[in-house]
Amino acid sequence: MTNEKNVHLVIVGFGGMGSYHTQLVEQAEGIVVHGAYDPIPYRMELASSRGIRKYESFEAVLSDSEVDVVLIATPNDVHKELSIAALRAGKHVICEKPVTVTSAELLEIMQVAEETQRIFTVHQNRRWDEDFLMIKDLMAHKKIGEVFHLESRVQGANGIPGDWRQLKAYGGGMLLDWGVHLLDQLLLLTDSKVESVYADLSYVLGTEVDDGFTSIIKFKDGLTAVIEVGTTNYVKLPRWYVKGTEGAAVIRDWDLSGEIVTRNLEVEHVEPKPIQAGKGLTKTMAPPSEESTIRRPFEKVEDLSDGFYTNFVAALNGASRQAVPNDQVHRVLTLIEAIFEAAESRSIIMREI
Ligand code: NAD
Repeated sequence: MTNEKNVHLVIVGFGGMGSYHTQLVEQAEGIVVHGAYDPIPYRMELASSRGIRKYESFEAVLSDSEVDVVLIATPNDVHKELSIAALRAGKHVICEKPVTVTSAELLEIMQVAEETQRIFTVHQNRRWDEDFLMIKDLMAHKKIGEVFHLESRVQGANGIPGDWRQLKAYGGGMLLDWGVHLLDQLLLLTDSKVESVYADLSYVLGTEVDDGFTSIIKFKDGLTAVIEVGTTNYVKLPRWYVKGTEGAAVIRDWDLSGEIVTRNLEVEHVEPKPIQAGKGLTKTMAPPSEESTIRRPFEKVEDLSDGFYTNFVAALNGASRQAVPNDQVHRVLTLIEAIFEAAESRSIIMREI
């Protein structure tokens, strides 16, 4: 699989995500999977069956001078020690999210990356998701006016997957898992700073880590966001719900189904007629008339950015900045810490983030 002109990457932790990275690397030019290491023998057999070279130990990876980059795709608790060891061995490092369990640990890694002059970057890949790019485009082009409220959630009914994700010692829990993705996306949607955080973590399944959470995040510019992750939701709410001064929008699911509804500015405001609702009448909750609103589907947004690995190779060659800057990764972890704090103290955390 190797080619001398290519950047050689070794996957450390050849589990679900580590093995998926082989597909991501294949889509990029200038980089190849050079080998893999995982302490579980059947994981190494799987790598071998795909023609990937096996390493007997992490140390063997680090001492191989042909290895340029180490990808860390292990459980979260060992990301820091493995990243630092790889950087000190002169390797560039890509680390899976959540990069570390605390923001202080990330600063330690960044310090070593600075000292060793190696690239350290984190695979916060959902900043390339189509649904997110559509919401970003909606907000940037003010398609529903100025957005003042958004709700972003992922909900499943399968509980916390796997084994280590259910344990605190491994950095488990849904806030550190899916929370990273949704919060990373949120912070890319506005230039404003966070002003306050309120949150509740869910422990419905009886695990020692959260099986989901609800957070309300307010920004200095007035935007409010509800960010929610659930693993006990047999009926799920839409992936995105966004309100603006001129309308509202919804993206229901990964299939990108949804719509944008705005006021029809060409039609004079018509007083709604009261409707029968339950055992009463309501005018306040009557739907707006068809003439006074415009319904449109979302337009697909073309992603013009390089993929993760293409960008990584360009960053390595000094031709581009890394697509996921470490200060942004650090900001996400700081926000996660405020969410944990708000939930534990049952209070609103007033903090500029
Ligand atoms: P997994 O349990 O499927 O795989 C983890 C593998 O790491 C296992 O095969 C295990 O044997 C191996 N491992 C454990 N300790 C090790 C060590 N010290 N050295 C080398 N290998 C070791 O877990 P997963 O779902 O693949 O998750 C791995 C990482 O990827 C986690 O950090 C997770 O949060 C992240 N992840 C990211 C995404 C994403 O979309 N970016 C998706 C899934 C998982």
